[in-house]
Amino acid sequence: MTIDGKAIAGRVMADLIPRAERLAQAAGRKACLAVVLVGDNPASRTYVRAKIKAAELVGIQGKELEFPAGVPQDELLAAVSALDADPSVDGILVQLPLPPQIDPDRVLDAISPAKDVDGFHPANVSSLQLGRPCTIPCTPKGIIRLIDSTGVSIEGKRAVVVGRSNIVGKPVAKLLLDRNATVSIAHSHTRDLKSLTREADILVVATGKRSLVDGSMVKPGAIVIDVGITRTAEGTLGGDVDFASAKDVAAWITPVPGGVGPMTVAMLMENTLECFEARINR
Ligand code: NAD
Repeated sequence: MTIDGKAIAGRVMADLIPRAERLAQAAGRKACLAVVLVGDNPASRTYVRAKIKAAELVGIQGKELEFPAGVPQDELLAAVSALDADPSVDGILVQLPLPPQIDPDRVLDAISPAKDVDGFHPANVSSLQLGRPCTIPCTPKGIIRLIDSTGVSIEGKRAVVVGRSNIVGKPVAKLLLDRNATVSIAHSHTRDLKSLTREADILVVATGKRSLVDGSMVKPGAIVIDVGITRTAEGTLGGDVDFASAKDVAAWITPVPGGVGPMTVAMLMENTLECFEARINR
């Protein structure tokens, strides 16, 4: 069966509306999410638009800041630090990737953990590892919700995560471990990927390699979460999993588009409200 990420994200967002309203009444203003876009990468621009639109839908004020691709690092750092110091801003997101003259670590470090709605700050990353309260990165958080939506328990399952990035692979593996799955992480140096993926009751693929995983690599009855988003020259979107062959083998599978993507945006809204609530209660 297809896991309808768009519909599930829609329900999450609808549930966030009264929460945003309640918090706005308590604070005397709406939550504010600042989104920083550098350069003119069309995919980044689409994501930023989707995030601002979602914020408005939920009742969060979206604040978009745009910089040219050639912006000097100091200028960008100064702008991010200003947002960080602004008491009317509750969450800051810097859309990645950044142009080569900018060190992404310097930018992420300029956002205080309390406003780090992406959960990328080292303090949030280490808290996640230690099992302490923290902001959980949006995509991994959304993936767990999508798995939970199937009603299948994660506990005791064999989970395989393909991809070891800091924003998807590593954190989702930790979240699966926290839910008592037995987790393996595969990556570009993994030998015989197929024999590993075929063991997976839960298979999460986040590589950016179009159709890397086909039906022959999926264990019958598995839950398959396809995180990848690639665009062909003709502009069609596709994932890391060959949906056509995998859907007949898997019990549950996410489509691309309409799977993980919308859930990531919904989780960003939830994280923004969590940061807002923590600031109000401080
Ligand atoms: P990344 O480029 O940082 O990491 C890719 C990972 O894939 C690496 O760890 C690499 O070792 C692994 N890999 C590459 N080729 C492989 C192979 N042949 N076999 C096994 N592993 C291989 O990527 P990322 O930032 O984690 O993103 C991965 C994909 O997910 C991209 O397509 C990205 O656009 C997409 N993404 C989607 C969302 C969403 O909201 N839907 C969010 C984040 C990323």
